Amino acid sequence: MIALSLAEIASITGGRPHDIPDPEQRVTGPVVIDSRKVEPGALFAAFAGERVDGHDYAQRAVEAGAAAVLAARPVGVPAIVVEDVERALGALARAVVERLGTSVIALTGSSGKTSTKDLIAQVLERHAPTVWTPGSLNNEIGLPLTALRADEGTRHLVLEMGARGVGHIRYLTGLTPPRIGLVLNVGTAHIGEFGGREQIAQAKGELVESLPAADEGGVAVLNADDPLVRAMSSRTRARTVLFGEAEDAQVRAENVRLTTEGQPSFTLHTPTGCSDVTLRLYGEHHVSNALAAAAVAHELGMPASEIAAALSGAGQLSRWRMEVTERADGVTIVNDAYNANPDSMRAALRALAAMGKANQARGGRTWAVLGKMAELGDESLAEHDAVGRLAVRLNVSKLVAVGGQEAAWLDMGAKNEGSWGEESVHVSDVRAAVDLLRRELRPGDVVLVKASRSVGLERIALELVDGA
Ligand code: ATP
Ligand code: MG
Repeated sequence: MIALSLAEIASITGGRPHDIPDPEQRVTGPVVIDSRKVEPGALFAAFAGERVDGHDYAQRAVEAGAAAVLAARPVGVPAIVVEDVERALGALARAVVERLGTSVIALTGSSGKTSTKDLIAQVLERHAPTVWTPGSLNNEIGLPLTALRADEGTRHLVLEMGARGVGHIRYLTGLTPPRIGLVLNVGTAHIGEFGGREQIAQAKGELVESLPAADEGGVAVLNADDPLVRAMSSRTRARTVLFGEAEDAQVRAENVRLTTEGQPSFTLHTPTGCSDVTLRLYGEHHVSNALAAAAVAHELGMPASEIAAALSGAGQLSRWRMEVTERADGVTIVNDAYNANPDSMRAALRALAAMGKANQARGGRTWAVLGKMAELGDESLAEHDAVGRLAVRLNVSKLVAVGGQEAAWLDMGAKNEGSWGEESVHVSDVRAAVDLLRRELRPGDVVLVKASRSVGLERIALELVDGA
């Protein structure tokens, strides 16, 4: 982050200095909210969570080298006391981004934000120093913490924005106003909270509404293949750039196929040229994510050949997203247990089917070990049923549905679609699933593990990877 004096921080946040011997002392380190991550010169922001109150750790943070604490009350050590720590953090981020003049690239969507953010970061890094959201820190706290990592050397700041409801993205774009805004897709993620896809589109579209006008450099990068996203071009003053497989997309994929390993391959077309890409990632949904990244990179002046090379070289994304491990005994584990919604379930099942094709000829089987997709509201039964049916239609060899009611629906869908007897089983918990898989797996098998975050199915994947 850039160095700021405590006096400057107080002035930006409208806070009062408390117990500060030298207001000219500078914060040079990162802004952190976990006292264990404090480095000398850091600013420790004290948040009161449900279980712990950061204010109780103020002393420890200063002992570990924090220059001061951003706090809601005096804490007996050097502090800038503000009314609302979250808002103060936001104000600080906004001031720093404004001062640096760094170009902000913001992205949102129902699925693939983190994957695409990681792809954009890996591509842009080849071009110029880039700072990006670590993991999925995409809310009103994570976003400013990320922005505050930028410094004078930073050219691009890539920020993931999550929307939990209407007005949320508007708030985030107010903190770090983007010049380039990317909307990936409007799916059914969190539909239970929002009420419907139109409302989700309404909330995500706030990103493009915030962009500067075309003649001020504003660019809206929109998915041409998603009608609700495409329609957002009417909600922005920025210039629109479309990506996708549609004919009129400026950044386009042609000749899309999956290699026998299940990795997507395509020809990337941009207005300045075309070049072949083979991703090292699994699942055809990454074609869309890669095109989105390519469109952003194209807007920032990178030629197609360089973008294609960067995409083809991009390695594993954040953990537990289609993370493929081949065990010594020839069993392949695909850990996609980070999260799930109906769109990503379908994409992952198709990737599993593609990966299994080569192995099937040699007797290897494909296993879909699936759990609940959360937050589906009234759609829950139908969506779980449909995923169970799709597993059968894609010729997946075995379905293991893990958990309660939703798992029963997955199992039911599979059994109703085919004449599946033992091919689909419903087990109550992780333990039972691991025991079953340990007994049954044999060389050549490919196992996909996927469910919503709250289910914690990565425990199955991790146990299977460790214990051949
Ligand atoms: P979150 O809202 O939890 O932060 P996210 O939008 O950041 O999620 P990722 O973490 O990249 O999304 O991916 C979540 C899941 O969605 C993964 O299982 C991944 O395989 C799948 N996925 C990624 N990209 C797409 C896409 N373009 N379409 C459908 N599914 C996708
Ligand atoms: Mg994410």
